[in-house]
Amino acid sequence: MGPETASVTGHDVTTITCICGNTVSQDGLIQANSRGVPIAGGDSPVPAGLAPWPEDEDLYTLCPRCGRVYRDAVIEETGTAPVAFQVDVAAGPIAEAIKAHWNLSS
Ligand SMILES: [Zn+2]
Repeated sequence: MGPETASVTGHDVTTITCICGNTVSQDGLIQANSRGVPIAGGDSPVPAGLAPWPEDEDLYTLCPRCGRVYRDAVIEETGTAPVAFQVDVAAGPIAEAIKAHWNLSS
């Protein structure tokens, strides 16, 4: 079996419909680093719980509902959104980082 692939429109990561059905306008999608940890949007100092903006600009998009992570560069180059990996969003550091992300953006 190949990787699961989400639907995406026009090479635009913000148009992902995750395999679980989530979109930007539902539970939202979160920019993350190569380990799936939500990142700070260039804030300095980096807010507690979030990862710093990756120096190599290697960005990923995390679905906070199911934990699937998509690699932005793949989507932008190919117009397809294969799942890169999946993280645990129910507990642990990534769950805490998701809460920190929403606290900042709300
Ligand atoms: Zn999802």
